[in-house]
Amino acid sequence: MEKMKKIIYPGTFDPITNGHLDIADKASKLFDELIFVVANNPDKNPLFNVEERMEMIRRSTTHLSNTCVESTSILTVDFAKENTALAIIRGLRHVSDFEYEFQMAMMNYQMAPEITTIFMMPNEKYVHLNSSVLKDIAKLKGDVSEYVPEYVLEQLLSKLNS
Ligand code: ADP
Repeated sequence: MEKMKKIIYPGTFDPITNGHLDIADKASKLFDELIFVVANNPDKNPLFNVEERMEMIRRSTTHLSNTCVESTSILTVDFAKENTALAIIRGLRHVSDFEYEFQMAMMNYQMAPEITTIFMMPNEKYVHLNSSVLKDIAKLKGDVSEYVPEYVLEQLLSKLNS
């Protein structure tokens, strides 16, 4: 039997947005399984804890049958190897993303040449979106309902009002 082709989608996902989901929708169609890997990195001072971020991803991906959600504190390439993933998916929005993403992809390539980093661009609607901008707008009571699934919106509003 042919081996399952897995891809991992690492990120902070604080919280997951429709931009992340746009990439996940497309990448999950190209592989047998897509694993969201939530970074357990307290240095980034996330608004949501790891379990909250994982639950928001789970609830936002019920329409995708071949995805699952994990968290990790180890190197992305080590996680990929341990889970027999072939590739890492990352989103690219602007040229400004490119420098950082290119550096990381090259470092990962040095550490694990057998793992391929794949980049995808989102629908242009989400090109300016990231979790930080989303949180900034929501904090100032702006309407972000177009940019996140309903459950995430509820969690965001309840966290910011608590
Ligand atoms: P990280 O801290 O690893 O950058 P993020 O959750 O911010 O974690 O992003 C994870 C991945 O998702 C990155 O590759 C990022 O470029 C991508 N991403 C984030 N927002 C969007 C978006 N609006 N459209 C496409 N890709 C996105």
